[in-house]
Amino acid sequence: MKIDLHSHTNLSDGLDSPAALVRSAKEAGLSVLAITDHDTLEGWQSLSSAAETGSLTVVPGAEISCRTASGMSVHILGYLFNPTDLALTELMSLTRDDRIPRIKKIIQLLNEAGIEITFSDVAKHSESAQTIGRPHLADALIERGVVASRDQAFAQYLHNDSPFYVGHFAPTPEVAVHAIKNGGGVSVLAHGLAGSRGATYTLSEIEALLEHGLDGLEVDHRDHGHSARGALREIAHAHNLFATGSSDYHGAVGAQRLGMELTAPEVWEGILARGRGCGVFTI
Ligand code: AMP
Ligand code: ZN
Ligand code: FE
Ligand code: FE
Repeated sequence: MKIDLHSHTNLSDGLDSPAALVRSAKEAGLSVLAITDHDTLEGWQSLSSAAETGSLTVVPGAEISCRTASGMSVHILGYLFNPTDLALTELMSLTRDDRIPRIKKIIQLLNEAGIEITFSDVAKHSESAQTIGRPHLADALIERGVVASRDQAFAQYLHNDSPFYVGHFAPTPEVAVHAIKNGGGVSVLAHGLAGSRGATYTLSEIEALLEHGLDGLEVDHRDHGHSARGALREIAHAHNLFATGSSDYHGAVGAQRLGMELTAPEVWEGILARGRGCGVFTI
């Protein structure tokens, strides 16, 4: 049984439509796929309205873009929460709205450094999206011939410590964890030790977040090396947390493949049993 609990559609910064993502998941032999777009539910919601009984179990979710009091970017995955919960939907809509002026500010900084790029270039690559993000800006930089790939765009211009980085409205991780819990959902810290993306939590900061009701840690993720995985697995074991593994798939680019990292069936069963804000559906 192949279970992948982190993926994106083109309703946020993934490249595949929800229907194409489902097709790819079936081709990859997955039994369970969580759709966790950044700050929007529309990807899985568009599927659930047309759902029939099929071979793929879809787990409703989201990846909430958060920022700590000290300004560090942290992503919290939420699963099986009530999709009409007001606190959660308002929090995501504030984030989505503020991402537009934020992208414009990044564009201005790039322009000041002599890189020609406009908001309409970026808008062209985010037509399907509810959530505009740096990967769309990366796509526009590729089209302009400035870089060759999303990875190169992040390495050179868009990473969190770059002079062109601008943040957007974001709740703290504590607020997101509480909101997911109040909405009946299950919360998991996404790629918590992915140092290649920028600053990360210390292990004791992760333990402090547990006191707010965090349910799990994403352990197996392509941006975690052997020692990061070991450290996270140890914390998860010590505190009886869900230790997940997921592809964080945004489309078949670079090394990304659906099912490249997996979650154990007993971990998934624990998450399913704890989530009470909504149910899964099959398609
Ligand atoms: P944003 O939501 O606009 O802040 O952009 C964050 C998204 O950019 C993440 O979800 C990843 O998909 C992608 N991303 C972040 N850091 C990197 C990186 N170093 N290399 C490639 N993609 C990245
Ligand atoms: Zn993303
Ligand atoms: Fe993330
Ligand atoms: Fe993600």
